Amino acid sequence: SGRLEGKVALISGGASGLGEAQAVLYAREGAKVLIGDLQEALGAAVVAKITDACGEAAFTRLDVTDLGSWQAAVALTVATFGKLTTLVNNAGIFHPGGIQAETPQGWDRMVAVNQTGVFYGMKAGAPELAKAGKGAAIVNISSLYGLIGSPDAISYHASKAAVRVMGKGAALEFVKQGVRVNTIFPGQIRTPILGDITPEQDAAIKASIPMGEVGDPMDIAHASLFLASDEARYITGAELWVDGGWYAG
Ligand code: NAD
Repeated sequence: SGRLEGKVALISGGASGLGEAQAVLYAREGAKVLIGDLQEALGAAVVAKITDACGEAAFTRLDVTDLGSWQAAVALTVATFGKLTTLVNNAGIFHPGGIQAETPQGWDRMVAVNQTGVFYGMKAGAPELAKAGKGAAIVNISSLYGLIGSPDAISYHASKAAVRVMGKGAALEFVKQGVRVNTIFPGQIRTPILGDITPEQDAAIKASIPMGEVGDPMDIAHASLFLASDEARYITGAELWVDGGWYAG
């Protein structure tokens, strides 16, 4: 049987990229999956992909910047699949800009989605996760850029660093309830988030990664699967970077 048999997961940003990969892999390993995203057509397509493969999944429109939207998504997960055991805070946005280039509006939007969105997700999910108790888990998706400095995306880096510390605090806050909280720090993974990049930028990215290649969304999904599964029962507050050796250098 699957490594997530009996689990019910709510995955934010599950319509694309890393969220889609996690939704597909979780379902393949036996979890029932509720995908929450702004992108309805893409979300429906991921649900179809999962159900075509005999998995169980549903989609709901979720705006992670809205606590009420999160509460509705949690309630729908419980109404549809009976409980919530697993929360993946994966939704995120990116735009570049150093301190001089970033605007107050750009900053606020970044923080609303990447930082407040994770806070609201954990806040809305906590009561049901606590009800599920032992075996429940939260996986938060930060970024390697939450750990290192870089000159050109100040709001993204700040929001992702906040996800790191929130994960540690949540791990301690929820430990008595049996809910584990761990954080993944993806390096450079091929998804739509980067937008269009030139062949020169692509070459520069690859040259900066010790393994010499950009990661695949499934590389993140497999790390997430492990942290969500009972194989990781003794792991909480942990930080796992999945980056082709980037952080080691
Ligand atoms: P993506 O753009 O393919 O997917 C992000 C998803 O989040 C999209 O489907 C989008 O609609 C959704 N989303 C955005 N704002 C939302 C909101 N307000 N409410 C609900 N959903 C919303 O990008 P991805 O690469 O799959 O990114 C997933 C996560 O991984 C993000 O948190 C990102 O910061 C992080 N990450 C990605 C990389 C990478 O190289 N791809 C590296 C480090 C971290």
